[in-house]
Formats: sequence, C-alpha cells, structure tokens
Amino acid sequence: MSDVGEKVTAEVAVIGGGPAGLVSAIALAAAGVETLLIARPAEADHRTTALLAGSVTALMTLGVWEACRGHGAGLTKIRIIDDTARLFRAPEIAFAAAEIGLDAFGYNIENRHLLAALFARAAAMKNLSRIAGTALAIESDATGVTIKFADGEARVKLAIGADGQRSLSRTAAGIGSQRRIYPQTALTLNLAHTRPHDDTSTEFHTEAGPFTLVPLPGRRSSLVCVLDPAAATALAAKTDAELAPEIERRAHSLLGKMSVEPGRGLFPLAVETASSFARGRIALVGEAAHVVPPIGAQGLNLGLRDGATIAEIVADAQRQDLDVGSPGVLARYETQRRADVASRTIAVDLLNRSLLTDFVPAQSARALSLYLVDRIGPLRRVLMREGVTPAASQPRLMRGETV
Ligand SMILES: Cc1cc2nc3c(=O)[nH]c(=O)nc-3n(C[C@H](O)[C@H](O)[C@H](O)COP(=O)(O)OP(=O)(O)OC[C@H]3O[C@@H](n4cnc5c(N)ncnc54)[C@H](O)[C@@H]3O)c2cc1C
Repeated sequence: MSDVGEKVTAEVAVIGGGPAGLVSAIALAAAGVETLLIARPAEADHRTTALLAGSVTALMTLGVWEACRGHGAGLTKIRIIDDTARLFRAPEIAFAAAEIGLDAFGYNIENRHLLAALFARAAAMKNLSRIAGTALAIESDATGVTIKFADGEARVKLAIGADGQRSLSRTAAGIGSQRRIYPQTALTLNLAHTRPHDDTSTEFHTEAGPFTLVPLPGRRSSLVCVLDPAAATALAAKTDAELAPEIERRAHSLLGKMSVEPGRGLFPLAVETASSFARGRIALVGEAAHVVPPIGAQGLNLGLRDGATIAEIVADAQRQDLDVGSPGVLARYETQRRADVASRTIAVDLLNRSLLTDFVPAQSARALSLYLVDRIGPLRRVLMREGVTPAASQPRLMRGETV
C-alpha cells in the first residue's frame, strides 16, 4: 500500500479505516481489484471485539489472523445468568462450543491489536493505495464517483462507505436510516483478576441491561456494563480504587479480586438500519449500514460479512468485465445482506427489550424461551450454529475460500 495525494483513479474506493473498511479494502485488493483506502489514523479505542468463528476464518484467509492470534482469547463457553430480582427468572444457561463441534465460538481481541494487524496487512498489499485523510465530499454520477479530500480528489467506479455511524457516504448517496435510541449506555473497560476465566464469557442479565465479562489472554477480561445513562456516567467517574470492588460485587466475585486497567469508554446505545445498503455507486458496510447494541457480539461480525460480501460481488463483476458500480452489482449486494442484518437486528433488539420491560407477561415469555433453549438440545444447537455461522450469509471468505 502506498500513500497518495492529488488526482487519483482506482476501481473502488473504501472510505473509512475502521475494521469494516479495512477488511473490505484488504479483501478487494487480495482479489486483484485496484483499491483506494481513504483512512485517517486510528483513534484510541480501548474496547475489545468478540470475533465469531466465521470472522476469524475470514481474517485467516486474508493473512491478518497470524498477527492477531497471540492477542486473542478463545471463547469456549458462554454463560447467561439471570441477575434480575423478578418473579419469572430464567434458568442459568451455558453453551459450549464443543456441542457444535468447534474448539471455540470465536476469539476476543482488543480493538487496538485488531486495527494494528489490519493496517499492517493493508500496508503490505500491492493493489491498495491509501490517502491518510478525510473524505470531505462524495459525488456520484452516471459513470463514477468523485471523492474530494484536503489536497486532491479521487475518481472511482464504486465507493464503499465504511465511515461509521455518522456516515458522509450514506448522506451523499441520499440514503435515509431508521434510528432508535435506547435509554442505556455501555461502560467499557478492561480488567485484571485473580481467578481464571476458563475461556468462558459470562453475561449477567440485569434489569438495566447485560453486564458481560469476556475473556482476554491470561487473567484479564473485558467488561461491557449496560446501565441507564446517569448510572453509567456515575460509575465511570469513580476512581480505580472505588470502581474495582464495585465491579467485583456486580460480578458476584466470579473472577476474584479485580483491578481496573486504564481506558474507560461510554457508548450510548442505539439501533439503526439504513433504508438501503447501496445506491448511486455507493455501497455501505459496517456501522454506516447498521448499528446494533453490544449484546451477543453481532455488530462487527455483521460488518465483516458486509465487507466479505461486497468484495466477492465486485471481484466477480470485474472477472466478467462488468461495471463494478452498476445497479446490478449494487442490487446483488442489497439482496445478499438484507436478511442477515434484519434477523440479527431484530434478535438483539428483542433480547434487550425483554430485559428492560416491566410487562410481566413479556418477562415470563423471556424466562420460558430461555428455559426451552436450555432443555431442548436440537434447539440449542441450531441457535448456537446460527449465532456463529448464519445460514443467511456465508460469503466465501467466511468459508475459508479466497475472494
Ligand atoms: C461497547 C461496544 C462493544 C462492542 N463489542 C462488539 C463485539 O464484541 N463484537 C462485535 O462484533 N461487535 C461489537 N461491537 C460493535 C463494533 O464495535 C462496531 O460494529 C464496529 O466498531 C464498527 O466498525 P466500522 O468499521 O463499521 O465503524 P468504525 O469503527 O466507526 O469506523 C469508521 C471509520 O471511518 C472513519 N471516518 C468517518 N468519516 C470519515 C470520512 N469522511 N473520511 C474518512 N474516514 C472517515 C472514522 O474515523 C473511523 O475510523 C461493539 C460496540 C460497542 C459500542
């Protein structure tokens, strides 16, 4: 990858250097598509991402996983504990990856390590050039897309908008979105603890939202603690010495004594879906297309499937000498992504709302559903498989095949 400026042409431009944009750009370049990445340097991000098995396979196929491996902790078990004080409480449920023939559901990795590995891989690719800056304007017409940045402009056949929740690409394409804000904020931080996590992710379901501990290598875990916004802000304002025992109390001392690592984040929760995923030579990937709350590790896993899918469709179009920004290509992308995104968004939304509701029949329905999941083996396995490798979307990269 080389840094470029002034007037640039390429087949495809990817706007945004978050994980969804980087994976899209690497997959395109790996397939021989001349790609331009418009990406400013990564901002500090202390979060972690639980990458499910399909995403890990894709990163292996793209030559990124080797640099991630030592930073990831395998997730061999997932426990869900009803920590509400409600009349109808669900039984504790534990899912084991071995039940569906996997060593691990996936791996949890700090975003800074994932991004570093992706930027390093991108830098080594010959079909990939980079503008280390911001796209200031994006205009599409009948034959291509012009993207303006501080010291020049680029002309491409297709722009991939990977520019996150407040996507300029989405606005430029004239695509609207439906956004609903939840009365919840996630506090994120990483912890060291005295007891081993045994590669098990534990999700306590509370009346305010999930409190989730996800393993990191060694005796470390990441925490996503969902609370009402005032409570999350108050918790985040505590000193390390005050916060550590408070988290230990909320975790029922499951992992022993805790110490808080530097770097806390507060993320207001929302759900948002673009009304279309592609229009006028602009295709959206990652959070530019859909935002889901951090429950069940779906957000970026969806975003990586977007990247793998658009790369596959564009590579196929190029092999057939077709215009890679044509309406047919965009329509294929829309069709291939809609069901996967819609089903995950609905599932995460329902789960979250079933926790927040004061409506007793909804609480009992939730408890009954989880009871059935616990008791009925085939249903458990279908749910586990669907959570890790969705039937509606298996792009080639997620199956370990090249684009
Ligand atoms: C607390 C929390 C925990 C989460 N945990 C998980 C998890 O365990 N598993 C999971 O799958 N998902 C998880 N997610 C979701 C996941 O973090 C997101 O899906 C993911 O970060 C989105 O990646 P992205 O590349 O689409 O967007 P972003 O990471 O937002 O990247 C967008 C990039 O575009 C750049 N950009 C914006 N505008 C421009 C412009 N005009 N020009 C150039 N660049 C631009 C930005 O600087 C940024 O680098 C979690 C989310 C939260 C809030």
